[in-house]
Amino acid sequence: MKVLVTGGAGFIGSHLVDRLILDGYEVDVLDDFSTGQNENKNSLANYIIKDVRDDLKSLGTYDTIYHLAALARIQPSFDNPMKTVDINVGGTANLCNYAYKTNAKFIYAGSSSFYAGPYLNPYAFSKWQGEEVCKMFSSVYGVSCAIARFFNVYGSRHLCEGPYATVIGIFERQMLEQTSLTITGDGEQRRDFTHVNDIVSGLILMSEERWNGDIFNLGTGTNYSINELADMYGHKKKYIPKRPGEAQITLADISESRQKIGYAPSEDIKDYIQNWLKNIE
Ligand code: NAD
Repeated sequence: MKVLVTGGAGFIGSHLVDRLILDGYEVDVLDDFSTGQNENKNSLANYIIKDVRDDLKSLGTYDTIYHLAALARIQPSFDNPMKTVDINVGGTANLCNYAYKTNAKFIYAGSSSFYAGPYLNPYAFSKWQGEEVCKMFSSVYGVSCAIARFFNVYGSRHLCEGPYATVIGIFERQMLEQTSLTITGDGEQRRDFTHVNDIVSGLILMSEERWNGDIFNLGTGTNYSINELADMYGHKKKYIPKRPGEAQITLADISESRQKIGYAPSEDIKDYIQNWLKNIE
């Protein structure tokens, strides 16, 4: 079976591509390589360098389209509200419309940022509007759409520097550079950290059935404060100003995902950090 992964050169998308190839799928990747990396490429996948807003008629037909391409972080979205909405909402409509025209199942990468309020920053708003686009295409055009809300994803290939870096990526870089771990605000904000392998398993489970805009939380159901996270590294901390637009708490309720698709996250952030520390010794 043939599938399309948008954003397949990025952090999460590239892990999904690797898993799909292992599972025997033929995989096309659509990516503009704006944050995607050449090192993330899988030699068995076919890469199409395109913007999600482009005309898609040169693409093939697919059993499933996994739509992960996006401007994928809160902070840079403040400087680019128009571009964020254009790519994350317009691009999603373009891909969803392509799924409709070619009769593909559509799996959308949504975000837990919705739960803190979709009007807190352009990113959260755009990811939520992407969900609404999926629901409309399901309701009006009968497209099989499923929405995954990812909770703070970590794992190999996450970005460690620049505006798209994640907190665990930043801590890893700071550990390697032997500088203090920077904590925004008082560090008491809590996050449900989810390993990329669990996210990928969730996405594959979602693709096994047809859906009508159903939403699946892909998290772990446990959260840690940023102070607790920093303590897992056993390294000195430095407090810096709080960042705007961010949630105080994220915590996934995964009961429906467990019940409807058998989602069962198995990776623990403490084990991940312990292994990471062992590997750099
Ligand atoms: P990433 O930046 O590593 O991946 C995004 C990919 O999309 C990159 O390869 C980039 O080049 C590509 N892309 C960006 N704009 C594009 C465009 N206009 N046309 C084509 N390709 C484009 O980010 P990620 O962390 O892997 O995020 C993947 C998805 O998961 C995103 O939709 C993001 O909103 C969502 N998500 C991520 C997290 C997380 O913790 N990482 C949490 C919630 C939701």
